[in-house]
Amino acid sequence: MSKPRPSIPRKIEDEVMFKSKHKCYCGKRGEEIHHIDGNKFNNDIDNLVLICHYHHDDASVKNGLIKRLNPRQIKQRRDELYLQNEKKNRLALKHYSKTLKSITDDNLFKASLDASIIVEILKIKGAFFDEKDWNERYKILQKLHIYSDHISIRVSYEIIQFLSMVADITVTSDIACSIAFI
Ligand SMILES: [Zn+2]
Repeated sequence: MSKPRPSIPRKIEDEVMFKSKHKCYCGKRGEEIHHIDGNKFNNDIDNLVLICHYHHDDASVKNGLIKRLNPRQIKQRRDELYLQNEKKNRLALKHYSKTLKSITDDNLFKASLDASIIVEILKIKGAFFDEKDWNERYKILQKLHIYSDHISIRVSYEIIQFLSMVADITVTSDIACSIAFI
């Protein structure tokens, strides 16, 4: 993942990532947050879109290719993607709350165990992406092994999502082996 422009506040960047689920509107991995109106200081959420390399060229005003995809079309496609993702989130939530209805002491315990493990995984995830040194990143990733005995769907989902994000940016073979192993 290439670095987004420094002028975009972290909170807004996170929101763009969440709404787009790290994807360009074409379904490819998003590489860069693009300022639709060409003004990189306009960090209004409506002016931002996560796009892949291909569509960055497409959208770039500098390249004179703006005719291929005008700002209105870009926003339209982005909003369609956001809407699809919202639907997916709602469905997932519906599914999750359904399972919650049949709660017993035993699965309440399992659910809280899952929740605490997921919090730890999120911490690992944060530490991983904050760290720029690949050797340190490798060490951080190793911590996931602790949870490999606890195979619940919810935890696996969290780990797999994290690992696929890691795989997207991975360059070292150590990390690749580690992912395969986990
Ligand atoms: Zn694209």
